[in-house]
Amino acid sequence: MSERRTGKEKSWRLCRKKPQTLDDDSGEDEPRNGNENVTLELKAKLPKTADKSSTYDLVVIGGGSGGLAAAKEAVELGAKVAVLDFVTPSPQGTKWGLGGTCVNVGCIPKKLMHQAALLGEAVHEAVAYGWQLPDPNTVQNDWSALTNAVQSHVKSVNWVTRVELRNKKVEYLNALGYFKDANTVVGVGKNGEEKLLSAKNIIIAVGGRPRYPDIPGALEYGITSDDIFSLDRAPGKTLIVGAGYIGLECAGFLNGLGYDTTILVRSVVLRGFDQQMANIVAEEMEQRGVHFVYQAKPKAIEKQDDGRLLVHWVDRDGALHQDAYDTVLFAIGRRALTQELKPENVGLKLIPDTGKIDALNEQTNIPNIYAVGDVLHKKPELTPVAIHAGRLLARRLFGGSHEKMDYTNVATTVFSPLEYGCVGLSEEDAIALHGDDNIEVYHAYYKPTEFFVPQKNVKHCYVKVVALRKDDQKVIGMHFVGPHAGEVIQGFAAAIKCNLTFRALKSTVGIHPTTAEEFTRISITKRSGLDPTPQSCCS
Ligand code: FAD
Ligand code: NAP
Repeated sequence: MSERRTGKEKSWRLCRKKPQTLDDDSGEDEPRNGNENVTLELKAKLPKTADKSSTYDLVVIGGGSGGLAAAKEAVELGAKVAVLDFVTPSPQGTKWGLGGTCVNVGCIPKKLMHQAALLGEAVHEAVAYGWQLPDPNTVQNDWSALTNAVQSHVKSVNWVTRVELRNKKVEYLNALGYFKDANTVVGVGKNGEEKLLSAKNIIIAVGGRPRYPDIPGALEYGITSDDIFSLDRAPGKTLIVGAGYIGLECAGFLNGLGYDTTILVRSVVLRGFDQQMANIVAEEMEQRGVHFVYQAKPKAIEKQDDGRLLVHWVDRDGALHQDAYDTVLFAIGRRALTQELKPENVGLKLIPDTGKIDALNEQTNIPNIYAVGDVLHKKPELTPVAIHAGRLLARRLFGGSHEKMDYTNVATTVFSPLEYGCVGLSEEDAIALHGDDNIEVYHAYYKPTEFFVPQKNVKHCYVKVVALRKDDQKVIGMHFVGPHAGEVIQGFAAAIKCNLTFRALKSTVGIHPTTAEEFTRISITKRSGLDPTPQSCCS
């Protein structure tokens, strides 16, 4: 795969040689592509950050999804709040601005790259719908143009976030925080200068960073999701290690953008998800050209004389294999950033191995220290979860509220090429919890109307409803593989919160022709053994 880059094009990482005029910040939050005037105007207006020592009602360590949500809610409720946010560069040197994982190296750039891949697919479909295009097989994506567009958006979000904090009067420090004692946080700026912040309450919202396997060459030659969205060269032939959310999503968009992509799967795909659905997602990806190597573990990476990476891996029988790649991306889970907080200074308890925090109602073992977001033990690592928990916590601390975060029935979507959205229990978890005899599983394959004209593969468009068998059959799980899965499943998540029953689902009139209506048409139980494939689009 050619790199398709010109000498003029640089990644944003290489372009950041701006004077550091914004308070203590690195200057990385400045928008690009046409927003420079706004930047200059706002620079003049931004206040200086905290004095050498200040006292607050709330200090938040970590300016990502959860921390910012808590901070903004708390100031609205009259609290004096400071937020510290600091990004340590990845082993490959990648850094980013304010806003945390989701905005910079997570949900947002991921969704944009997913969209880029879907558009490549749409080019082919458009021809079937009569669009006069050059031979779609000659159409290529320009990686440099894509990363520039993605980073431009990310930078503008960094800036808007910064301005929002200023407007709401949340004090922001671009500093790495650690505990001095239970009421004092030390913020270490980029230049090593330390500031003391005293606080009645402290929220830990430091999130996590990608893990690397302990194998030769991993840190030196591998990249992670921290690097891929601003990679200053086209990825080329790519090996992805890990078959969770990030592994599948990155493999999906890289394959869709035209790069030869292989996933090394240690055990199963999407462990923890409904395995029937996970296998459907993997089969569809395989059919689109992603290679899967199952039950395999990486052993070493070496750089060849030609600059490519020779990866050695071992299969389930212990046999060794090797192949050369341009890029190796690790997506093997994330490590909580809690050691950097010097937890020993306050006696903060961490879960051994993971470093996560087990906090009942977001309160740690230190009564005035709280935690939200990815840093929490056994809670979904999702942006809306961090935001919701952060807001509710701030309301309890400063607004007299008693409302607690409900971590059950959180809907989620894997943005694989054919997306998978779900809420509630998987079929296997439902059986484990209630017993096979007490649950009913309804399922159906379906044919999205818009797939007919371009003759797209409908084999993997599938829905499943898991319900209790008794009474009106309370729905305890809903699963959807198909286009716009997140949009489809979001409304049903609200219905499940309202104790949706299968009877109510069946009495809901669908919207035709949509894919979401398949949930209202579903009637075949797995138990019946009847064929769940549709006879026509409207049957
Ligand atoms: P973060 O957003 O990670 O923020 C923590 C911040 O604290 C960071 O800026 C960090 O640098 C900073 N920090 C850490 N330590 C310190 C310290 N000591 N002092 C100061 N600052 C510190 N979720 C979804 O819901 N949907 C998706 O589609 C989705 N896609 C994702 C794709 C990828 C590739 C990844 C990696 C994640 C994705 N997620 C998605 C998960 C989502 O990004 C996280 O759940 C969310 O960002 C967690 O928010 P948080 O506030 O806990 O932490
Ligand atoms: P993950 O979902 O936990 O998946 C990790 C994968 O890496 C698993 O397949 C695991 O295999 C494998 N693995 C672990 N250690 C390994 C090793 N040493 N060698 C080889 N393979 C190894 O983690 P993730 O994909 O990094 O995602 C992290 C979190 O981000 C997710 O939990 C999710 O909440 C969030 N996220 C959400 C979205 C979304 O909402 N769409 C998208 C991306 C990320 P095993 O199954 O064998 O353990």
